[in-house]
Parts: sequence; C-alpha cells; structure tokens
Amino acid sequence: MDKENIYITTAIDYVNGKPHIGHALEKVQADVLARFYRQQGKKVLFLTGTDEHGSKIVATAAKAGIIPQELADKNTDLFKKLLKDLNISNDDFIRTSDQTRHWPAVKKMWELIFKQGDLVKKDYQGLYCVGCEAFLTEKDLVDGKCQHHDKEPEKIVERNYFFNLGKYSSRIIDKIEKNEFNIVPESRKNEILNILKQGYKEVSFSRPKEKLSWGVPVPNDDNQVMYVWCDALTNYISALGFAENQEKFEMFWNNANVTHIIGKDILRFHAAIWPAMLLSAGLKLPDKLFTHGFITSEGKKMSKSLGNIVDPFEVLDKYGVDPVRYYLLREIPSTSDGDIAMGRFEKLYSSDLANGLGNLVSRVTNMVANYLDGQVEFNGQSEFNWERIDEYTRELKYDKALHEIWIIIDQANKMIDDVKPWKLAKLDTAKNRLMIKEHLNTQAIILRDIAMVLQPYLPDTAGKILNLIQAPKITKAKPLFPRL
Ligand SMILES: [Zn+2]
Repeated sequence: MDKENIYITTAIDYVNGKPHIGHALEKVQADVLARFYRQQGKKVLFLTGTDEHGSKIVATAAKAGIIPQELADKNTDLFKKLLKDLNISNDDFIRTSDQTRHWPAVKKMWELIFKQGDLVKKDYQGLYCVGCEAFLTEKDLVDGKCQHHDKEPEKIVERNYFFNLGKYSSRIIDKIEKNEFNIVPESRKNEILNILKQGYKEVSFSRPKEKLSWGVPVPNDDNQVMYVWCDALTNYISALGFAENQEKFEMFWNNANVTHIIGKDILRFHAAIWPAMLLSAGLKLPDKLFTHGFITSEGKKMSKSLGNIVDPFEVLDKYGVDPVRYYLLREIPSTSDGDIAMGRFEKLYSSDLANGLGNLVSRVTNMVANYLDGQVEFNGQSEFNWERIDEYTRELKYDKALHEIWIIIDQANKMIDDVKPWKLAKLDTAKNRLMIKEHLNTQAIILRDIAMVLQPYLPDTAGKILNLIQAPKITKAKPLFPRL
C-alpha cells in the first residue's frame, strides 16, 4: 500500500557540463510519478538538484578562467531552464554548494557515521583516474588504462578516511532480497546483489585538502575534504532539513514512500554506499530504487566525436514540450536502453499525436459544435480498463501505460468511423438526432477520461483537452499538434 506521503527524487546532476537528453529522460520519468500521486490526493515532495563539487569542476573552471562557484552557477541555471522547459513539477531544488541548506546535513551525517566507528583514517595506495575522479582497481583497467578515459591512472599514496561499508553488507542484502529496499528492474537488483555478495568492503570518503579544494570540509580535521559520497548522496535528506527541520524530515523520510530515480551507471552508489551510510547513521532506507537505462542517438552511443549528442533544448524548441515528453516516455523503455532518432520522432508525432489524439479531439469538438450547439452531458463513466493504466503508472511502466492509452484513442477514433455522425446528420430525424447526441456524449466522456490518465504524462495537452470539453459551450478546436 502506498503511504499518504510520497517522496520522489532524481539523481543530482553534475555541473561539469551542460544538460543532455539523458537528463531530460530522468526528469520526465520522475515528474510523471509525482504528478500521478498528486492526482491521487497524496502529499508529494519531488526533489531534484545539482552536484557541484570535485576536482573536475576546479579544472574546468580554471580552463574557462572563472572560479568553481561561477561555473556551478552558470550550469545550474541551464539545468533549471531544462526543468522549466520540460514542464517538470519539482517542489524543491537542492545544490550541494549551498552552505546554508546542504552543508549542515552533510556534516551531521559524517558525524553520525564517525561516532559509530565506521570512518577510519589510514594510508591508502591506489590507482587514481582524474577523469573518473575515482580510485580504480586492477579489474577496472584494460591494458593498464582506464576504459572510460583511455589513460593510465596515477599511482597515489594518501592518508584518507575510509568508510567501512562491509559492516552493513549482509543487512543490505537482506533488505534487498525481501524487497523492503526494492530495486527495479530485477536485472539491476541481481547486479547489485552480486557485487555485495562478492564482498564490497570499504570506500574512500575523503581526500587531502590540497588534492580536493572544492568540497565540504571534514568536521574536526582541517586537512581533509569530503569525497563525493557523503556530500552528494546526503542531498536526499539535506533538502528535507535533516540537520534542523525535523518535522519535514519526519514527514517525507520516516513516514513516506521514498523513491529514488537514477541512471544505471550510479546503481552501486545508491544501492550499496547510500544504504550503508543510512544504516550506520541509524536511519531508514528508501523504499524503492528505480533505475533507467541510457539513450543512444540514431543507434549509436552519443559522443562529441560522432557529433550526435542530442541537445534537449533544440528538440524542445522545434517540437514543443509534450511531443518530447511523449517520445521519451513511450519510445524509451522505462528500465532499459532506448534510442532517439529524428525520423522515428517525426513518425510518432504524426501517427500518435497529430493523427491519433489530435484528430480525435478535433473531430469530437467540431461535431459537438456543429450538431449539438456545443453542449454535451457527462453522465457516467467510459468502459475501459483505466485501473490497469494506473497500475502501470504506479510501477513506472510508462511505455506500457501509454501503449494502453493509445489503444483507447484508436478505438474511439474507430467508433466515430463506424457511427458516421455526418451521415446521420444528413437525415434530420428524431432518432438520428438522439443517436448523434448519445454518441458524442460518450466520446466526450472518453476524452475526459483520456485527459485524466494523460495528465501526468502530457500535462499541457491534458489541460487543453479538459478546457475544451468542459467549456460551457464547446467550440471547434485548433489542432493540438500542428502537422510538421
Ligand atoms: Zn577514467
């Protein structure tokens, strides 16, 4: 059963670069769930934000001749613009450089873990890849080089704090296996169980200040700065006022259904490090970790050298927000990789949006205006399986939900073709008038119900449909989706 309070988060975006279409996918996926639960009358808190620290930011800022905070500010503005342009209904936005809201919670988290004796300072010799901003193991290397950056990692000896994550592995495994900490999809659940069962022991939690200047200082140790984990992952509770506002934290962490939505590349951090931190600090785990895949472009991995990186702002400018939301939610399977191809995009736009939904709305409103003087009666419900669509939405099976909705749209269009109200109207008898009226009332009810289930997916379009058909007098509508 869903609780009354629902807390939904996306990963926070790293501000080392501009947003790409993958960021758009994750935001839209989270937005559907948030809008759905609000529609169900739940109290929803939907959080997103930006991850702003690290030596990569320092390097990129230096190259641009600005300070790290300026780079973070500039790119955070772009991520915020993306949210606005995608019509994302987030309630809050957290920035890890926010010393007032974020840092106190991070310090509290560190101190709680430290008190448990789970943070130990020791010498560490490791292979460090600057590109990854991470220590690699021999297993991660191909021909002695980092696979992602094709560069030999540096050998580094450092004295850092390590988090004894292994202490919590068996408890995490148990919670994952019992679905108390539900990892979706099944393939990702098995992946993380394998990692945990192989013995994931410890993880570096800080770096010397001279190596990592841009980050949260370690409490009571002037020479150390927190490495990404404690800083970035704690955003999920810093935004709830973990350090000071206990009421909000009670409401949306302790007494809420908590869903984190992330990409498959950061599974390990969210399904091993984060739950271990929470257990060490004596806090409850999230309920669900939902993992989406990656987007390829025209069948190929997006890369600068191929020049096939899809800029979300460009597609949004060209096609409008709801067609972009529709493509991402319908064409990219919720939990696996998908492809964005402009030919396919335009095909779906025409077949599903312009000719499918758009045409249905035009036909119904035009006929109501022509034959019923703009008046319809909403008596009763349409006879489709709306419950199944809600079920898919609740489970984030968005592609399946939209598939079902479009079957209904096609059926409604076909009903018009079968009844042919324009033929009935040619012979103006009482019987024909009644048939037209009954048919168009039914169509108006179907359109209303379609708009209701579409609201989380295509909020703009759903709002327009409801405004049209619930107007005191229905008039001929302009096309919802102009032909390309
Ligand atoms: Zn690397």
